This record gives sequence, structure tokens and C-alpha cells, in this order.
Amino acid sequence: MKNAAVTLFIFISTFFFGQKKYVMVIHGGAGTITREAMTQEKENAYKAKLTEALKAGYKEFTYGKTSVEAVAAAIVILEDSPLFNAGKGAVFTSDEKNELDASIMSGKNKSAGAIAGVHTIKNPIKAAIAVMEKSEHVMLSGEGAEKFAKLQGLEIVDPKYFWTKERWDGLQKVKKKEAQNPTKISQNNLPASYEIDQKFGTVGAVALDRKGNIAAGTSTGGMTNKKYGRIGDAPIIGAGTYANTQVGISGTGWGEFFIRATAARTVAAKMEYLNKDLKTAAQETIDEIEKMGGDGGLIALDKDGNIAMPFNTAGMYRGAVSENGEIEVEIYK
Ligand code: ASP
Repeated sequence: MKNAAVTLFIFISTFFFGQKKYVMVIHGGAGTITREAMTQEKENAYKAKLTEALKAGYKEFTYGKTSVEAVAAAIVILEDSPLFNAGKGAVFTSDEKNELDASIMSGKNKSAGAIAGVHTIKNPIKAAIAVMEKSEHVMLSGEGAEKFAKLQGLEIVDPKYFWTKERWDGLQKVKKKEAQNPTKISQNNLPASYEIDQKFGTVGAVALDRKGNIAAGTSTGGMTNKKYGRIGDAPIIGAGTYANTQVGISGTGWGEFFIRATAARTVAAKMEYLNKDLKTAAQETIDEIEKMGGDGGLIALDKDGNIAMPFNTAGMYRGAVSENGEIEVEIYK
């Protein structure tokens, strides 16, 4: 009854005061996602999963839960789905492993948690939240992170759990291309294997709760064929994830560029120090990454419920839910 009254109040105020206020925005990765390469069935599956994640996040909002809880609810659904490159369905490393990274930041007091390079934690976002809430550290990696997750009672799985045929085939394709085109590698001289998009389906969410607090989270398997314990931007606070009292951001794309551009923090800094509005700050950050030679996208949500979802790839799985529960999901440009 109470919930119905709140919904009615929100509906009436939106009707009279116009502007739509969003309470959650999510992404499921950016990359070479084109209509031509997609079947109707696959498109429906992606849209249904994004909708399910938004509904789960929105449910937490209506129950008056925190933005951290809303982010967790949405991301767990995407991690459990083999469609996305996070949790089940993560891409393979060059060593034929699934190696996961995740992070969370709560804007209210700028607390943050992250885990990197893990192989056995079923839901990396839960481990990142546990680091934030139950440890004195911000980032744990590898075996230490797995030991910590186990001590916290989180679900531990056999690394085989993360295996999917699609990602396995993806690795073989990239390796073949790499073998055909051995090139000297540096940050500004990338090998031909990079012509095949190696990033697909990292997931992220930013939520605003009833108290006006923002949280942002990101979870990924990283990039196909990554080597030597490579860590991307997703678990790095300020690169793939950031939140303060004004805005929350989660990125997806070529992680090396997002790290070098301190992407997520840059969006917030543009708003904080240069007074830029959310859309300008977000778009400029993606433009800067493009100028550096990188690609990807990000989602951002500010304290007034405005959203931005810029990307410079062919597509980005994305969606948002408004205060009155209206859901929007999109894939292409
Ligand atoms: N940003 C992720 C990484 O570089 C990949 C992605 O977003 O698809 O690890």
C-alpha cells in the first residue's frame, strides 16, 4: 500500500513537473555490435537480460535499499548470464583462463572496493562490495582476493564454471590472427590481432537511492587473449568506476585507454571543477579517449537523476530505469 502511494506520488510529480528522473543506468559492454551481425533472437535475449537487471535494481530502489544494493542486484544478474563478459561468459586470457575483475564505489563517503585477477569467485561484484565493507583495503588481487571472498562466505566455484563455447571460439580466432601477424607491440603500436574486437560485454551499473546517494560498479572478464596477469580499468577506481555525491560512472571499452585517461574520474572532475553538465562531461571524456586511439563507452548518472551514455563504438548494450519504473534498453548507435 505504502509502495503504491509512493509510486502514485512519483507519477503525479513527473506528470506535472515534466523532467524524467532516472534512478539506475546500466551497460553490458561496448564494441563492434552491429545490427547486421545480430540475430533477432540474440537481440531479444540481450534486451530481456538488460530489462531483468534493471527490474532487479529498481526493486531495491522501491524497497528503500541503498544504491550499493541496487548496483549489486543488477550486476549479479548480468554476471550470471553467459551473454556478458563478466562472471559466467567471461572472455579467455592468452593462458586459456577466465580472469575476473570488479569494483564498486559508494559516492556518499567515497568508500570503494575492488578485486582483480580472480578465477573462482562466482560473483566478483559481491567480492568487491565485501572488500569495501569488510576489509581495511580497497583492492585485493588473485589468490588473496579469493581467500578473502571465501572467508566472507561468498560462493566459490570451479574455474570451469566460467567456460563458454562462444568465448573459447573467440580466443582461438584472436590467437590465429595474432600468429599470422606477429608485430612489435607497444601502447601506440598495436598488433593486427587487435583488429578483431577483443572486448565485448563488460557490465556496469550506477544507481541513485531514495536518500540521494549514488553508487557505481563494474565487472568484467577483461579483454580476450590478455596476457601476463593483465588488469584492465574495470577494477581501478577513477578509471573504470567512480562515484561521489554528485555523480557515478561506469566505463566499458579498451581498458588501457580508460586507465591512461583516468576516464571515470575525469567525468566527475569536469563537473566538479569546470561546472560542466553531465552530458558534456561524459561526451568529452569519450572524445578524449578516441583522440588517444581508444574506444568504448560509459554510463553516468547524477544526483538529479540525469543520465548520459556516450560511446564511440558501433554499439553499447545499455539501459535505464526512471523513478516511476519506466525501462528503456538500447543496443545500437
Ligand atoms: N574495459 C574492459 C577491460 O579493458 C573491457 C570491456 O569493457 O569490454 O578490461
